[in-house]
Amino acid sequence: MRYGKFSSKTLRSSEGHCSPVISRHHPTMAISVVIAGAGIAGLSAAFHLAERGARPIVVLDKGKVGSGSSSRAGAINTMLMETEATTRARGISFDIFERFDRILDDYQFHQVGCLAIYNDEQYETASQLHPMHHRMSAKIEVLNRRKVEDRFPDLQLQNNECGVLDLRGGYSEPERYIPALAAETRRLGVEIREDTAIERLLVRNGRVQGVVLNDGQELTADATVCTVNAWANGLLAEAGQSLPVRNFVIERHVTQPFAREPRLPAVNDDVRGIYYRPTEDRRLLIGDGAHGFAQASMPDRDFEMQTLEPNPACKPFLKKALRGRLPMMDGAEFDHHRVGLVSYPIDFKPNIGPVAALPGLYLGTHFCSGGFGYHPVAGLLLAQHIVNGKTGFDASEFSPDRFNGMDTLEYLKQEVPYSDMVEAHAANTVGFVRKRH
Ligand SMILES: Cc1cc2nc3c(=O)[nH]c(=O)nc-3n(C[C@H](O)[C@H](O)[C@H](O)COP(=O)(O)OP(=O)(O)OC[C@H]3O[C@@H](n4cnc5c(N)ncnc54)[C@H](O)[C@@H]3O)c2cc1C
Repeated sequence: MRYGKFSSKTLRSSEGHCSPVISRHHPTMAISVVIAGAGIAGLSAAFHLAERGARPIVVLDKGKVGSGSSSRAGAINTMLMETEATTRARGISFDIFERFDRILDDYQFHQVGCLAIYNDEQYETASQLHPMHHRMSAKIEVLNRRKVEDRFPDLQLQNNECGVLDLRGGYSEPERYIPALAAETRRLGVEIREDTAIERLLVRNGRVQGVVLNDGQELTADATVCTVNAWANGLLAEAGQSLPVRNFVIERHVTQPFAREPRLPAVNDDVRGIYYRPTEDRRLLIGDGAHGFAQASMPDRDFEMQTLEPNPACKPFLKKALRGRLPMMDGAEFDHHRVGLVSYPIDFKPNIGPVAALPGLYLGTHFCSGGFGYHPVAGLLLAQHIVNGKTGFDASEFSPDRFNGMDTLEYLKQEVPYSDMVEAHAANTVGFVRKRH
């Protein structure tokens, strides 16, 4: 099912400039890389490094491919972000998803659009960013209540509500996307080792030279990429490089199949504080976007994501939030759910790039609730950092070094609820919309 799939013969390349489809043949380069974590961020880094000729590349995961937050995501994407760099980055992720839709076996980027639903006050805040979004080549339509309901007949809005449709947005199905990307990455020569836990970074002479595995084995490499997301501070702390990030527990639920396909795009419903989208098999996936996320203590190396429990208040909250919005949910039942962690840096921007204090180490971590939106470009930027020593656009906003000088350990000692983090961020950020709950 596709509503207005964006299509263009001349696609933006994943370097962020217009070009015909990129050549897939790159020379092999003797840059050895070890990647910690086989979630979507690690796989994307491996893919882009392999395409640029880095060899050998080994990806290590203490569990199975995608067994962290990646397989638990709603996997909804929009590029309508708050700064030029974050919006540009998400746009490049769309370039990559569009390309993956063509080149990955058994994967479809459901480019059905991503609709943000706002009330009048929220729209006034969000629309301050539209001139910037247009400059960054976003394709946006602002739809009043009637237009939303005509276009997406399963949605019902109030008179004081409207929709902003990001036409390049949409969703992926993690259970199809992750194996497809892993298979392509292996095909490019990358070795992925599952059930292989990393004990610590291998630091010698002030340089990260690889990793030490749980069984004491050392794997050395020219570049070490850390994409263990929620677990990152566990590895970084031992090397004296903790980051000011917090982890929160979130969950999403999937209904029983409906008799017909739901007629709606991917939706971030900021009025109701939830998000939802159709699935590939006539269900609805519905997640809580704001309802008092519990803070998770910093996961240690042995932490397993499957030990997380759903919040008993979440399902009733979702059902109530959907009343009067999605009539097809009246009487519908949930079938299954996934619970995972999202990792928020203090400034709500991901960490992507080298760490000056630990030469040889590169981070691709802490994507807030937007790892599906960020990981394609994160992998590309990491490959550019490692192979070219520079990125295709100014990505300094994502540098892990931006926190240098901050008393991170003091920050990590404090208990800061999610709502306080959001309030502090909103106070400093033009165009940031607080979700209602
Ligand atoms: C319920 C939910 C809904 C979400 N919805 C969306 C959404 O709609 N859109 C969106 O963009 N994002 C969404 N996200 C966020 C997104 O899922 C994450 O940001 C993204 O998956 C992070 O990917 P990752 O590869 O960085 O981390 P992960 O997938 O967590 O991968 C990290 C990997 O590191 C491995 N690892 C950890 N420690 C070690 C070690 N010592 N040795 C070896 N391996 C190790 C783990 O086993 C894991 O596989 C959602 C998240 C959740 C939980």
